This record gives sequence, C-alpha cells and structure tokens, in this order.
Amino acid sequence: MLIGIAAMSHETNTFSPVVTDLARFSGRGGEPPDGEAMAAIYRGTGSGIGGIIDVCEQRGYRCRFGIAAYAAPSGPVENDTYEWMATRIVQLAGEVDALLLDLHGAMATKSFDDGEGELLRRIRALRPHLPIGVSLDMHANITPDMVANATLLCGYHTYPHVDMRETGVRAANALLDSLEGKTRPVMAWANAPMLPHVMRQGTDDEPNRSLQARARDLEDGAAIAVSVFTGFPHADIHDAGLSAVVVTDGDIDGANNLRNELLTRAWSAREAFVYHVEPLEDSMARAASLAKAPGEGPVLLLDHYDNTASGGTMDATDVLAAILAAGLDDVAVFGIFDPDAVKAMAAAGIDATITLSLGGKLPTPTIPRQSNPLTVTGTVKLLADGRFPATVAMSRGLTMNMGHCGVLRVGGVDIVIISRHIEPFDPGCFRAVGIEPTARRYLMLKSRIHYRVGFRDLVKATVECAGTGVCTSDYGELRFHKVRRPVYPLDGVNTPPEEWLPG
Ligand SMILES: [Zn+2]
Repeated sequence: MLIGIAAMSHETNTFSPVVTDLARFSGRGGEPPDGEAMAAIYRGTGSGIGGIIDVCEQRGYRCRFGIAAYAAPSGPVENDTYEWMATRIVQLAGEVDALLLDLHGAMATKSFDDGEGELLRRIRALRPHLPIGVSLDMHANITPDMVANATLLCGYHTYPHVDMRETGVRAANALLDSLEGKTRPVMAWANAPMLPHVMRQGTDDEPNRSLQARARDLEDGAAIAVSVFTGFPHADIHDAGLSAVVVTDGDIDGANNLRNELLTRAWSAREAFVYHVEPLEDSMARAASLAKAPGEGPVLLLDHYDNTASGGTMDATDVLAAILAAGLDDVAVFGIFDPDAVKAMAAAGIDATITLSLGGKLPTPTIPRQSNPLTVTGTVKLLADGRFPATVAMSRGLTMNMGHCGVLRVGGVDIVIISRHIEPFDPGCFRAVGIEPTARRYLMLKSRIHYRVGFRDLVKATVECAGTGVCTSDYGELRFHKVRRPVYPLDGVNTPPEEWLPG
C-alpha cells in the first residue's frame, strides 16, 4: 500500500497586506521542497509532517512524498501560488492508496475563502473513496468542505504549539489503523458562534487549558481523535471561530455527544475568551515599575498587535517608539522587518553611525491606524545571514531563517532588523546576533502567545503592549464582512443555539 504525504500550511490574516507568494512557502527561496528532498528535511523533526513521515516509515509503509509548503502567516494566498500547490497535491492523490496531509486550516486565497476545503474537494472529486487523514493547527477555522472531504481531522492540543509532531503522529496512526481494518472512523463536528481572542487561547491559561485537557482525556478513552479548534478570528470568513471535531470508531452518536459536550463547555467559558486591552501608556509605566536591576532578569514588552505568527507586517514601530521616548535602557528588540534598512546597514558597515527611516512602510488600509516610519540614528553593531538552528523542541531539527539582518544600537536599545518574517519564539533569534536575552533589563518581542515556548522561563514579567497593526487585539478596529452573525463577542449573542449544528 502506497501512502502519499504532503503539507500545505498557511494561516491567512485577511486584513494583512503582506503578500503570500510561492517564495514565502519555501524556507530557502524558490519552490517548496518536494519528494525525497522534502522527506530529508522533515524526517525526525518536531513538525507535523515529520511525525507523519516517521509513523508511516516505522509502520513499514511505502511512501510517496509530495510538497511541504509552509509559509508564515500573512495576507490571502496569490492565486497562481495556490494553484501550483493544489495541483501538485491533487496529482499526488491520484497516484497513491491513501493520503496524509499536514494543513493549517485557516488558509484563504485571493479566490477561495476556504483553501483547505477547496483542496480536499478537488481531491475527492478525483478519488471519491481515497482515505485522507489531516493534521491541523489549533487555529484552524473548520468548514463543511473540510469535514465532508476528509476521512479524519486531527488538531493540536497546545498553544504555544508544542505538539505539532504529536498531532502528525496521531493523524497518521489513526489513518493507518483504519487502513489495516482495526477501526472504522466516523467524524462529528460543529462550530459555536464565538470568536475566542487569540491572546486568551494559550493552553497555560484557562479556559483553554481545561478544554484541551478534556479533549486529550477523551482520546485516551473511547475516541480516536478529539479536537477543539479555537479558530483564527483575523480570517474574516464565514466559518471563522471555535469548533469541535470528534472521530470515533464507528459510533456517530457517541461522536456527536462528545462534540456537544465540548462546544457547551467552550460556550460557557466565552467571557473568559475575551481580551481586555490596556492603553499603551499604562503598559509602558507598568513595565518601568517592574524592571529589576541589570542581571536580575528582563521585563518583556510584548508588541502583540504586530506578530508574524498572526500575519503582522512586523514593521509597526509604535511600541518601539514608546520605548525610545520613555528612555528605557538595556533593551533588546526583536524585531523590525525592513529589508531596505538591512541593506543600508550593510552598505554602511560595522561600527558606522547611520540614520534610518525604519519600518512603517507597508500600508495597512484595513485598520484605522497606520504605523509610521521611525527616524532613528544609531550604530551598526552586527550584520549576519540570519540563519540559526532551532534551539527549542517546537522546531527541533529545523533551521530558522530571518533573512539578512543586522543589529542597530540606538541609545540603550539594540534593535534586530530583519529581512524575512519570523516569529520570535526561540531565544536563538537573539543569540544568533550576539545578544544574550537573559542579560538584558528589557526585551521587546513581536509575539502573542508563542514567545512562551522559549522566553516564558527567561523573563521576570511580561507586559502586553497595545501598539498598532493588522493583528490588532481590539476587534473594534476590524471591519468584519463575512463571518457568520451573530457571533460572540461582536454581537450581543448570549443564548446558545438550541442544538450544535455544523455551520
Ligand atoms: Zn496556530
């Protein structure tokens, strides 16, 4: 029996101006890796597809490797890029006996609001009976086409996503068990009319800690796969938001009951999924009051309106400007995306003093406030190629790539300026450019929850700073056109549906 394995993963922020083309889906530029080259990159790694590959090979299956296309979150995927990826995966589906896919579950393209559903629909049109197992991100916005055209869906239980590999392993084992006749998977799903805030979805915190724990407990019991997808609200599509998918062995009534239980639990916790924004001035004052003496551990200023892992431009400057205006010293900042600034620093050379118009370059017409370029004068401390080995388990075995980069020292602030979007969840992003984060008085990171993987235990305190950006934590700054209404908390909906129904 021949198993096809491929990945097409993108979380689309439909408010983001960052272009999503084919180069963004390749860690090294050009086209995403394919075939044996793809397997060589991901085999044994902490990724979802790494888990899938390893399970299939360990269980003795022959594999045919397709593309592994992963892009950092950004705006809607270009049509030609989507067609390039979908065509290859559909072709693979035509050549194999079963298919295992690592998808994200919140991909929107210029033409399709539901990139994954469209892909699976095309595969099913070609191969109506092909067994298809899919591993998905917890931020997946699940749609009717995704459920109707897959054998089983399986999502992360952690945020930060430290169980990507385990989810791939679970999806692969579940599909292979069914191929071997050990199980007969049936799947129940429905969504709740709620948009949990990303800043309130971390699984260190309630209510998602208990929700995910319950899902895992159910998997240890009667169910094959149990997933609570908290969803991605910055994808303005009809089905954005929280949903539950339960896969059981032939017991659809049992699956429906467990799905209902999980959705009822989530709905009951809806107020705890709401995020309350603190004004930036208050956050800055609080950070200064929390700062310790040098060497006693940094205070983290979290620029959560502009994080790459939710589709941010990573070039918003408002929190950095507030840091400079407040005169905070011994600060390390990661990072500002500005390839032109990196080129200017490289042209000036190490130790040169230069004045830059930094960041604020990508127009953000979808939100009411535009971050502006910041004029800074500083010294070029370091220039680098921006590649470093992952130092945390989440990306174990993979090379991180922030593109050509440099460190600019402006007063007491070291700013890492990069030319490729990367989420700073790994302290290696600082150490690769000669900055020891634990030795600083303050750190600034453009992140929301994922920083916790590598930084939570390094910092003395975290202060969430409301800057500017297309990942705005203020739903009032976003104009939703497509998400189903009414939906909590955008509307005053406080009575649950009479029954949990798909869509
Ligand atoms: Zn996610």
